[in-house]
Amino acid sequence: MIIPYDENNIFAKILRGEIPSHKLYEDAGTYAFMDVMPQGQGHCLAITKAPFRNILDVDQSSLSAVISTTQKLARAVKSAFSADGVTIIQFNEPAAGQTVFHLHFHIIPRFDGVALKPHTGQMEDQNVLAANAEKIRQALASSS
Ligand code: AMP
Repeated sequence: MIIPYDENNIFAKILRGEIPSHKLYEDAGTYAFMDVMPQGQGHCLAITKAPFRNILDVDQSSLSAVISTTQKLARAVKSAFSADGVTIIQFNEPAAGQTVFHLHFHIIPRFDGVALKPHTGQMEDQNVLAANAEKIRQALASSS
C-alpha cells in the first residue's frame, strides 16, 4: 500500500520557504541543503521538488534527477572537506529509519577512522552549518 504524501512535512515547508535552510544547490527538479543534525561534518541532503514520500512512490525521471544532484553533492563535499569517502543513505518508512516523509538522499563526507554520529542526534550550531555550506557552495561553483 502506498501511503499518501503529507504536505506539512518539514521538507515541504523548506521548499515553500516557510522555514529556513542552508541552501547549497537548486535546479528545476531538485534542491539541496545542510542537514541540521549532521552525522558527520558536511552532512547534507538532496530532495526532489515534487512531492514524493520516498523511493516507493517516486517516478523514474524525478528519481534520476535527485540521484544526479546527489552525485553532484557527493563530489562537492569530497572536495570541500578533503574527505576520504562519501556515504549515501536513503530510508523508506519508519521501520527503515525514515523520519521526514519527503524523498531525500543523505550525503555524508567520511574520514578514515571516524565513525558516523547517531541519526537525528544533536542539532549543529548554525554558524558551523553556515560555514560548511559556504565551503560546499564554493566546491560546487569551482566544479561547474
Ligand atoms: P530521515 O530519517 O532519513 O527521514 O532523515 C531526516 C533528516 O532530516 C535527519 O538527518 C534530520 O537531521 C534532518 N532534518 C530534520 N529537520 C531538518 C531541518 N529543518 N533542516 C535540515 N535537516 C533536517
